[in-house]
Amino acid sequence: MNRVINDYERYVIPCYRKLPVVFTRGRGSWLWDDTGRKYLDFFSGWAVSSLGHAHPRVAKAIARQAARLIHIPNNYYHEGHASLARTLVQNSFEGKVFFCNSGAEAIEGAIKLARAYGNPRRNEIITMQRSFHGRTMGALSATGQMKFHKKIRPVLGGFKMIPLNDYATFQKAAGPRTVAVLLELIQGEGGINAAEVDYVKKLRRYCNEHDMLLMVDEVQTGVGRTGKMFGFQHYGITPDVMLLAKGLGSGFPIGAMVASKRVADVLGPGTHASTFGGSPIACAAAMAVFETLKKDKVLAHVRRQGAKLFAELRRLQKAHPMIREVRGRGLMAGFELDRDAKPIFDHCLKNGVLVNVTQERVVRLSPSLLVSETEIRRAVDALDAALNQMKSS
Ligand SMILES: *Cc1c(COP(=O)(O)O)cnc(C)c1O
Repeated sequence: MNRVINDYERYVIPCYRKLPVVFTRGRGSWLWDDTGRKYLDFFSGWAVSSLGHAHPRVAKAIARQAARLIHIPNNYYHEGHASLARTLVQNSFEGKVFFCNSGAEAIEGAIKLARAYGNPRRNEIITMQRSFHGRTMGALSATGQMKFHKKIRPVLGGFKMIPLNDYATFQKAAGPRTVAVLLELIQGEGGINAAEVDYVKKLRRYCNEHDMLLMVDEVQTGVGRTGKMFGFQHYGITPDVMLLAKGLGSGFPIGAMVASKRVADVLGPGTHASTFGGSPIACAAAMAVFETLKKDKVLAHVRRQGAKLFAELRRLQKAHPMIREVRGRGLMAGFELDRDAKPIFDHCLKNGVLVNVTQERVVRLSPSLLVSETEIRRAVDALDAALNQMKSS
């Protein structure tokens, strides 16, 4: 047996279902394993490696910062923290930023901010069924998928889950104890389900009228993934709170909560903190991401490549009636089958293409934001072959 796999099985807590592949390096949309085999990565590790693997500008920024200053505690100032906060605000909405290290930690910040804003009278947060907000206790409690709660109950109180895009149910659910609504604008883990524009606009209006916070979990949709810098920019609204992580550092761990002016000062000194949050290296990585998005006109590229990808997926749907629906936006794509999609994953892996399956029947794609047309064609060919094989078996 492979030594890496052997040691892993013996010494690592088995939280993850693993595949017997050991990756050793990556470049752009491509990964290599320890046998030298090449894979086309059409999932980017849950959309984390947003500019592909080992993007030169990101790698250089990290290396340069590591040689100067790796850590500085949050009771002092450092340049990266300030520049990145300014960049985030200038690209989203007037407000302030809290830095952390992951999506779940950003969600925890939002839960605490909402509680601090609403207490003592209001402490209830409405979230959506099929949502995914992370694995820490607070984020898990906000997550509207009972399969993740099963082993861990009791979860925290104060969350109410409702179906997405059902405004009448939202109105019934919201009450005098409700302080916020938290949602993903496109549910990732939940199967690429988009919030409707009209629905989100109504939520915005309701929140304004009832002094509630509209909090958007853009951990997956943020930083260019949908073809705009942030997902909310497709909706003609401004949220009160936006959560980011995943693609923000193109692989380097960083999370952020952007809070609008109205609520930015609710979490005063001593109410919240993160030891590693916004470290100099994390900020340097994220600054290199923003620089690349801007200099290389990546958002326009995402819209262009996204249109090509969706055209190809619709073509596949015509050829394979087992595809029920194609969903998503930009380079956050998914299609739902009328059956278990696991064989597609297996077949693509055998063909050297990495995709993801969620909610049993949904094939999920989130390639590098810099993906080329050739790479799109290559991935779609692998999907086509997998669908053909499923049909004949
Ligand atoms: C992945 C994800 C999270 C959790 O992020 P972690 O970095 O794994 O803690 C939260 N919300 C959404 C929408 C996600 O996709």
